[in-house]
Amino acid sequence: MLLLGAHLSIAGGPHNALIAAHELECNCVQLFVKNQRQWQMAPMSKQNIDLWNSTRQKFQNQILYIVAHSGYLINLAGNCQDVLTRSLQALREELDRCRQMKIDRLVLHPGSHRGQGAARGIELVTTGLNAVFEQIPDVKILLETTAGGGHCLGGTIEQIAQLIDASKYPDRLGCCLDTCHLHAAGYPLWPQEHLDDLLQKIDRHIGFDRIGCIHLNDAKGETGSHLDRHEHIGLGRIPTDAFKYILLHKKLQKVPKIIETPKIPGSQWDNDRKNLAKLMPTSKVFQATWLNAEKIIPRSTGGPHDLRRPLRTPPRTCNPRHRAKSSPRTAFFALA
Ligand SMILES: [Zn+2]
Ligand SMILES: [Zn+2]
Repeated sequence: MLLLGAHLSIAGGPHNALIAAHELECNCVQLFVKNQRQWQMAPMSKQNIDLWNSTRQKFQNQILYIVAHSGYLINLAGNCQDVLTRSLQALREELDRCRQMKIDRLVLHPGSHRGQGAARGIELVTTGLNAVFEQIPDVKILLETTAGGGHCLGGTIEQIAQLIDASKYPDRLGCCLDTCHLHAAGYPLWPQEHLDDLLQKIDRHIGFDRIGCIHLNDAKGETGSHLDRHEHIGLGRIPTDAFKYILLHKKLQKVPKIIETPKIPGSQWDNDRKNLAKLMPTSKVFQATWLNAEKIIPRSTGGPHDLRRPLRTPPRTCNPRHRAKSSPRTAFFALA
């Protein structure tokens, strides 16, 4: 099965994101668990909890994965004590909200070290994550790859791996790949050899089983531009074949794939519907270009890029100490 969904609005209550996902025929969805541009978070009303639970139950056979995305103000790596304190509080509350809503994964941007240096930034993020994991159980955090550049952490695969390895709780940490950010950070996603190289690098440093979500966004900027500007599928710099390859990749089959492409204020579904149609194999738009997708999947067996064979997994080089402590890698994401 191909897992595809969109980031959808929670205006009027989080259950509305599920209703929208149902309307758009998505089998996975991403949402904020609160207003993403405010620090404070009002408790969820009894009515909204009931609506969330009943709507979720109603669509349980269709919507298989739900991913939460944390608020944009959170920065665990910064140099301002007030922001650090608020960030920790906000992250704790969001994790707790995820527990309440029975969402098992929360996407987090690693943050900006604000000139203190990457090493200090990583130290701060690690300390912060250890603290919240100690207080709130269960929910996993997915560190999102970022466009890098400036003081932004998470622009390289190695840095995401470093953050996971430095944690006292590596079993609670996974990653979220964002195609726009990877491309902007300097990883070319096409032709196929580049994408294969990147996927192998990710497997070597982080592990496929730690990928808890993939954001499929086209990019406005050039490779390596560090420009975090999402574009509609097919209208940016990333060839659509790259998205199809990721969608159909055998090793990524159980990873929810979410579009975060631009919305039109007031009628966000129109754009989402169009972007999803470019990626959904059942849609006419996809089928019109399906031959293309067939072409990029080698029919022969034995080739290094044959999707029906598992990818070669080179020996891990990345801090095996923590790996040994982890639960079996295949069980990292057990939902659905
Ligand atoms: Zn994000
Ligand atoms: Zn993203």
